[in-house]
Amino acid sequence: MIYLDNAATTRTAPEVVEAMLPYFTEYYGNASSIYKLGSESKKTAISARETIAKTLHVETNEIYFTAGGSEADNWALKAAYEAYQNKGKHIITSKIEHHAVLHTCEYLEKQGAEITYLDVDENGVVDLEQLERAIRPDTILISIMYANNEIGTLQPIEEIGEIALKHGVLFHTDAVQAYGQLPIDAPKLHIDMLSASGHKLNGPKGVGFLYINKKVRIRSFIHGGQQERGRRAGTENIPGIVGMAAAAERAFRIMEEKNRKEIELRDYLIERIQKEVPYVKLNGHPTKRLPNNINFSFEFIEGESMLIMLDMKGICASSGSACTSGSLDPSHVLLAIGLPHEKAHGSLRLTLSEENTKEEMDIVADEIRAIVDRLRNMSPLWEDFVKRQERK
Ligand SMILES: *Cc1c(COP(=O)(O)O)cnc(C)c1O
Repeated sequence: MIYLDNAATTRTAPEVVEAMLPYFTEYYGNASSIYKLGSESKKTAISARETIAKTLHVETNEIYFTAGGSEADNWALKAAYEAYQNKGKHIITSKIEHHAVLHTCEYLEKQGAEITYLDVDENGVVDLEQLERAIRPDTILISIMYANNEIGTLQPIEEIGEIALKHGVLFHTDAVQAYGQLPIDAPKLHIDMLSASGHKLNGPKGVGFLYINKKVRIRSFIHGGQQERGRRAGTENIPGIVGMAAAAERAFRIMEEKNRKEIELRDYLIERIQKEVPYVKLNGHPTKRLPNNINFSFEFIEGESMLIMLDMKGICASSGSACTSGSLDPSHVLLAIGLPHEKAHGSLRLTLSEENTKEEMDIVADEIRAIVDRLRNMSPLWEDFVKRQERK
């Protein structure tokens, strides 16, 4: 098997599993209890929080554990909307956010919020001038993702942070794809809130965190006990929290080496495909992109059919096309960068890890070339196109 879907989820690193195990069977105490077994859990949660806070250059008390990236995104948007109603009801986001942000925005619109969805250019980058023009006296929040999960494009986060600061507007970033892949200095970038998720950086599923700058007035999200300083109730998921911290520690330790390796493999595979397959387009920014992201559109092809044929060869990938996402519409991200429907349907996302090899890239390039050939030969659109070319 060749696994190239690390933007969907990653393999939990063995050292992360190792770190978690004792917290299921040995140190299983409730962190709120007084006896030693409980205080062991409490100490562990504090040290995990410290580990994570350090990676972002923020204070320990500004990290709030959640049940993943979607919860962190929901919390940031819904709670900011509630807490800042006296200032206004206007939120600015982009058209290429993850559904955890976009669907929360749609929900808030039903509650009376006004949302501006910024366009992106053909590489998927937001326009800073359009952002600044969109700010109004009643704007309470800007939520722009750090790195896109489909096309890998990185946003000008520091510039967005500066604009938010200048206008006194809160800045939240969904950094689920970026955290653990890139160094992030939250105060330097003027980020007020940041979402991350364990399972995107070789940690466990179902745990993540929201960084909330201490100056942000935000309400509690899950009501109940006093966990997470009264802002997110529920008995702490200690094994998950330990796993999140172990994954973060590991990601930052191996970051440089991992990025170097992934970039080399990424660029090698991109080059082979672009050389060997005609009518293909690389989606996303050519250089300002995640080290592990490749996203292609192949003309005259259904992404879905490609995925099935790749799967038969033991290759796991993903597509921005119809059925995978359970809807008939192609990816909102690919449409936002200006791809027509048929090209958006023919897209393929390959997201690498440091465990991939050059041999695997060669196998994948060979398979893609063969599959594209086969599918195009079955396609009436391709046949028409070839005939028209011949007539010219
Ligand atoms: C995966 C992902 C999420 C959701 O995180 P979960 O932990 O799976 O809930 C949110 N935003 C982005 C950009 C993602 O890639």
